[in-house]
Amino acid sequence: MINKTKVISTVGPVTAEKEQIKRLMLNGTDVIRINMSHADYNFCRNVVESVNQLNEELKMNVALLMDITGPEVRIGKFVNGEAFFRKGDRVRIYMDEVLGDNTKFSVSYPKMIQYVKYNSIINVKDGLMQMEVIEILQDFFVCEVLNDAIIGSNQNISISGVKFKLPFLSYKDEADITMAHKLNFDFISVPFVECSKHILAINDLLINLQNEHINIIAKVETEDGVNNIDEIVRVADGIMIARGDLGVSVSMERVPGIQKKLIKKAHASGIVSIVGTELMSSMEKMARPTRAEVSDVANAVLDGADAIMLSGETTIGKYPIETLKLVEKIIKSAELDIDYEEYLNTNNLTNDITSIISMNVASAAIKIKSCAIIAPTNSGYTARLMSRFRPCCPIIAVSPNRNIVKSLQLNFGVTPVLIEELNSFDKIIELSKDITLKLISTQPGDKVIITGGYPFNEVKYTNFMKIEEL
Ligand code: PGA
Ligand code: MN
Repeated sequence: MINKTKVISTVGPVTAEKEQIKRLMLNGTDVIRINMSHADYNFCRNVVESVNQLNEELKMNVALLMDITGPEVRIGKFVNGEAFFRKGDRVRIYMDEVLGDNTKFSVSYPKMIQYVKYNSIINVKDGLMQMEVIEILQDFFVCEVLNDAIIGSNQNISISGVKFKLPFLSYKDEADITMAHKLNFDFISVPFVECSKHILAINDLLINLQNEHINIIAKVETEDGVNNIDEIVRVADGIMIARGDLGVSVSMERVPGIQKKLIKKAHASGIVSIVGTELMSSMEKMARPTRAEVSDVANAVLDGADAIMLSGETTIGKYPIETLKLVEKIIKSAELDIDYEEYLNTNNLTNDITSIISMNVASAAIKIKSCAIIAPTNSGYTARLMSRFRPCCPIIAVSPNRNIVKSLQLNFGVTPVLIEELNSFDKIIELSKDITLKLISTQPGDKVIITGGYPFNEVKYTNFMKIEEL
């Protein structure tokens, strides 16, 4: 059976070469992510070129996600790329750029010093290292390290309980969005979204660029983002539960409950949800994950997420491909435990034609043990809606538009396939059967359900379902 839960792999130093990207793509990656906090134009262009070439060579449709930098403060570079800090060490934090080591480093936001107080707690790398402020001088402050940690260059830094007054979008972010448009990215994820206005601002930029393709993912990683989730899911195309920053801003023990609540909110409003950060982080250094990490991946699936995201595991880790292979195995196993009937019963359905047909398709799929649902689609609409009903079998979305095919890569259960054209009904039925036979091992007599809007190029909603025997 094809996995339904999608996997996003972030590319970084260990995976940026074409050969490595190929291995990521062949081992289950649906979407390649670039984190703009660590990437420049050349890096992006090279990765995008590799993915485009590989999509052609391998006849795949892996999509591209740009994660913009957003309003965050980062530390500068260390002499050897990282530094080892010990509990009790004293560290000077400079507002002007210095090359760092385990006695000093700088930050990207010179005004940070105005926010620190004596005894403030400073968090580095999502709180992996905590420090306490013990002295504040003219252009630097001094901290005492509270726990041992190895910290790499360019990691994030924050002050507990303090919100910096940073503009939501910087010039760099705007330039990066223009680059995402030019390089034909499929998704942009936006850090620290706290209200619908933030998403609408990005939408305006895309309208100015006349870009109708890019989907916007809101990264929920603050208390305000969590509190305003209802207005955020109304305007975003997806949300990411960005557990790294979220765990610092709301305290980490609240993250599991928030994860479940946010996934439900996204699902109820028909947009995708992504669980990100530290899913398999011990595999950055070791070849085997912990049992807790295996549970974490499986629980994201059982919570109903559309996708999970790998970051450090595939950017700087020692075992990126091994991690990916294991994640695929865990997903496959966890999906056996999904209660599809329960999903069907809890869906709050509207009475429009598309919803009625989609729900009946999902219900029939269970009853007749359908091996696939085929959704011929021009806009992706039928496939998205079908995904929302969480049917028990894969949804094979066939479309002649490569951008539409790629934009479906984050939807749970959807395997998008590029076809030449959506032509006569009979031809599409035959083609759908052929595609199913290629993708899924079937027995004679197995059934598929075909659903969509007909005439294909005219109607914008779903109006038919047809059951075929193979
Ligand atoms: P980041 O986002 O890694 O880009 O900060 C994810 C998170 O905060 O968890
Ligand atoms: Mn973050």
